[in-house]
Amino acid sequence: MPFTYTSGERKGDSVHQEIGRWGGGLEKSLGENFDCQVKENWRSACCGSADYQYEDKRYCILHFPSEDKEGAFDKTVKSKLNQGDFNFQGAFFPRVTSCFRSYEFDDSVNFREATFCAGADFSGARFRGKRTDFREARFRGKRTDFTKAHFCGKLTDFSSAQFSVIGTYFTKAKFCESITDF
Ligand SMILES: [Zn+2]
Repeated sequence: MPFTYTSGERKGDSVHQEIGRWGGGLEKSLGENFDCQVKENWRSACCGSADYQYEDKRYCILHFPSEDKEGAFDKTVKSKLNQGDFNFQGAFFPRVTSCFRSYEFDDSVNFREATFCAGADFSGARFRGKRTDFREARFRGKRTDFTKAHFCGKLTDFSSAQFSVIGTYFTKAKFCESITDF
């Protein structure tokens, strides 16, 4: 079965509604600085220009801290995965389940400080890169599922990750090698 990333229903216009709700502010007069204004060490994960405004800051779609941005966000995640780009540092995953079920990450992955507003499904995923980094990731959804995930890299790090109290599963997950930190 071919892998398809999905985070629930598509709502093509939700992002535009969101921009409206946060007050727009996309006029060219404001547009001197189009860099995403997240922490500097997150910026290597940025995708596209900082077209999204939240409070007084501008963000790329990946870091835009909105729970309601599924359409454009999904496309971005898919396109990153298709390019073998697994850097999601500081990414803000919206309010529908982020599904990486059975995905084969064949290079290092970086979900450090990422926020999953809803469920995260990594069941059956294979992490084959050198580093699998979930440090300080925040799993806020009802279900965080790493059932039967295989962590095959040299370093797997979940230190300081926050899991919701109920519904976190690592059943039959395999940690093959070297160092694993929780
Ligand atoms: Zn960004």
